[in-house]
Amino acid sequence: MKKIPLHWKIMISIGLGILLGFVLLKIPAGRTFAGNWIKPFGTIFMNLLKMLAMPLILTSLIKGISDLKDMTSLSRIGIRTFGWYIITTFIAIAVGLLVVYLIKPGYFIQPDTRNKIMYQYSGEATEEVQVAKESVAKGPLEPLVEIVPDNIFQAATSNGNMLQVIMFAVLFGVALLLIPPEKTVTVRDFFAGANEVILRIINIVMSAAPVGVFALMVTLVTETPSADIFIALGMYGFTVLLGLALLLYVIYPTIVKYIGGMPPGKFLKGMVPAQLMAFSTSSAAATLPVTMQCLRNNLGISEEVTSFVGPVGATINMDGTTLYQSVAVVFIAQALGYDLSFGDVLSIVFTAALAGFGSAAVPGAGIVMLIIVLQSVHINPAAISLIFAIDRPLDMCRTVVNVSGDGMIATIIQRKATALAAADAGKQI
Ligand code: ASP
Repeated sequence: MKKIPLHWKIMISIGLGILLGFVLLKIPAGRTFAGNWIKPFGTIFMNLLKMLAMPLILTSLIKGISDLKDMTSLSRIGIRTFGWYIITTFIAIAVGLLVVYLIKPGYFIQPDTRNKIMYQYSGEATEEVQVAKESVAKGPLEPLVEIVPDNIFQAATSNGNMLQVIMFAVLFGVALLLIPPEKTVTVRDFFAGANEVILRIINIVMSAAPVGVFALMVTLVTETPSADIFIALGMYGFTVLLGLALLLYVIYPTIVKYIGGMPPGKFLKGMVPAQLMAFSTSSAAATLPVTMQCLRNNLGISEEVTSFVGPVGATINMDGTTLYQSVAVVFIAQALGYDLSFGDVLSIVFTAALAGFGSAAVPGAGIVMLIIVLQSVHINPAAISLIFAIDRPLDMCRTVVNVSGDGMIATIIQRKATALAAADAGKQI
């Protein structure tokens, strides 16, 4: 019998999970059953993926950088990658602002419905505001300070410190490049071998993906608030989804085709497994192993480019999140009857860009950072209570765009790397 490809199995699991979720909602004690007997499998699967993110970043970045020819190759990849992150982030914000100003979703919500929703979710909002306040209170250069760990072993114990670990791994890789290779054979071999081991563990974990994804979907449906809220916030949800779809199906394929030199069909098809995983887990970090597999095996991106663009992209390149933040802040302003000046919009552009870079690649990180964007235009951050209820499904969709954005950047960097390698080879002849 022909083997069903894994992404098909995952797609079937998503469908079955949603279906069972709705069935359980109709049964008395269905929610409790899902919570006690199904949710734990989703949690185990998420934990397995999260458990692998840190070792994967460490081994693949160190191996990837130390495999480069020299420092020039690293700076070429690094500078270009960051340059494209910045460009695409601003494109994402522009698309978000365009759709939200065209559709004006905030004017579709009635004041009494608005007040009811805000009252109902005020508790959750207060918790998120507290988290955001702690990071805002520290000063403007704090994000820079936070990239540098004072203890790498401590940093590596929390998935919230991905950037710190990336910083260490890059330094480690750079040092390896600067030392004569014969002196570091053992260290290089160790990281190359460790990377192989982690990749194999990922394969083992992924074979359980259909079960994990099924459990995550059942949990999602059984824990979702009532349909009324979805209807009330329907226009807002539609606006975010429209913006994300424009980015994913119009702008990315165009960039991939004309700048990355890859047929858009190959790009979109090749990223499907990572997109499904991103949709199910709502976490670009948890999806990283699959994203890297897609880049290497489906898009034909080299080891060198994958090992840099994959981990760094998962951590800081979040076009879906920045697009969502720009839509959400304008939606909230419209719903509350605030007029945003041109200066306010500029402020949204820059704070959303920073908030996107600073959002952790975990579920719900975007809404915490949204608080900072709201504060930049003097809107009470507690207003996130208005959109809290439908944040999870939107998070699933923006995470799909976040990981696809990493694939898009990888095609551009790969094309340039190939051209440069050909030019270098030409010079040597
Ligand atoms: N869940 C998103 C991610 O991991 C971040 C966010 O927008 O909340 O990419």
